[in-house]
Amino acid sequence: MTESILKLKEGKFYIENVLVENIVKVFDTPSYIYSKKIILDNYLDFKSQFNNIDHLICFAVKSNPNIAILNLLANNGAGFDIVSGGELHRVIAAKGDPKKIVFSGVGKSKEDIELAIKHDILTFNVESEAELYRIQNTAKKLNKKASISIRVNPDVDPKTHPYISTGLKDNKFGVDEHNAISMYKIAKELDSIEIKGIDCHIGSQITELQPFEDSIKKLLALIDHLKSIGILIKHMDIGGGIGIQYSDEVPPTFSDYAQTVKNILKGRDLKIIFEPGRALIGKAGILLTEVEYIKNSSEKNFMIINAAMNDLMRPALYGAFHEIKNLSPTDSEEKNYDIVGPVCETGDFLGKDRLLSAEEGNILAVLDVGAYGMSMSSNYNSRPKASEILVDVDKLHLIRNRETFADLINGEQLLP
Ligand SMILES: *Cc1c(COP(=O)(O)O)cnc(C)c1O
Repeated sequence: MTESILKLKEGKFYIENVLVENIVKVFDTPSYIYSKKIILDNYLDFKSQFNNIDHLICFAVKSNPNIAILNLLANNGAGFDIVSGGELHRVIAAKGDPKKIVFSGVGKSKEDIELAIKHDILTFNVESEAELYRIQNTAKKLNKKASISIRVNPDVDPKTHPYISTGLKDNKFGVDEHNAISMYKIAKELDSIEIKGIDCHIGSQITELQPFEDSIKKLLALIDHLKSIGILIKHMDIGGGIGIQYSDEVPPTFSDYAQTVKNILKGRDLKIIFEPGRALIGKAGILLTEVEYIKNSSEKNFMIINAAMNDLMRPALYGAFHEIKNLSPTDSEEKNYDIVGPVCETGDFLGKDRLLSAEEGNILAVLDVGAYGMSMSSNYNSRPKASEILVDVDKLHLIRNRETFADLINGEQLLP
């Protein structure tokens, strides 16, 4: 499927046509580096699978919200799945089309709803009855109509990490099928609401097709039932969640995924919406970091690097695995290392028990961090956030400056 972002030629690593050494020389570490080609190839490959059916791909902004990346996708026709007013602002700043925005999330604030209605977004994916009334009231106040879909929780097990599973009945997301029907009935009577679609998103990093199949079938049955009581659904949003290979997982190819979706949808007159994040961007990014110290003890060997859990939270948060490669030449002995950052937490690791040879000053690449990498980063331990660079063939574009110490205290004030 996706080609590897790092290419080895005559002992040197490249991203597209750029020598990684040169990226480090210009931009230093830690830095997130993305390949424009891989992002676009993934997006266009996904899109091409659905050539012959009415569809919209709404990139999940939370997976990577950099406006240069959103702009790249918008210019190629993508819509966006947002989960906050802040993400709506980003899509607008990236020149994305608000009419291709779907708005998900269980806690939409009044201000966020108002902003979204003013921008005529495609649909709210409504997650509770209380939210439905809030949207109605806000739309009425603005003298507008708001389009809605109900986010259904189809109660299927996506067989993924519990923290990224969202479609089981004890998750906070969506409403069960019974409640969905009653909400559609209410929505039909609300004068500032227009019913557009139905929605689900069952989780992330899903590597089997069965959970997708099960949830789509449940949605279709609901659509049929709604039709029988006079409620017409124009689009079905089946969320995101397609997994990628971090270690030895075998996720479905886009073609396999599309085949499954298209088989179930055969003969239906429905627009289909997708909300992929990770599958489009995950393998398009790496984190470059430098080895600060090697620290050997009788118990363990530590490789202390200049990136940490604040830069990449997934290992600390989910125990997630990311492959780590040394890109620099070294004669040092291969050892088992825990690869850790400078943050004062025992949970601050990017890799455990990795067989590597490396020495101080070497450049490491943490792979597959394009999704939920920079977007989950923080300033914990007062660490400025890393820079982000997009490689386009032989050009380097700085798409986010490395934060400065001035950025760190921006907005803070001394007592008078
Ligand atoms: C996070 C999220 C997505 C994207 O999930 P991926 O696993 O990155 O594809 C899509 N839809 C909703 C509602 C989400 O919360």
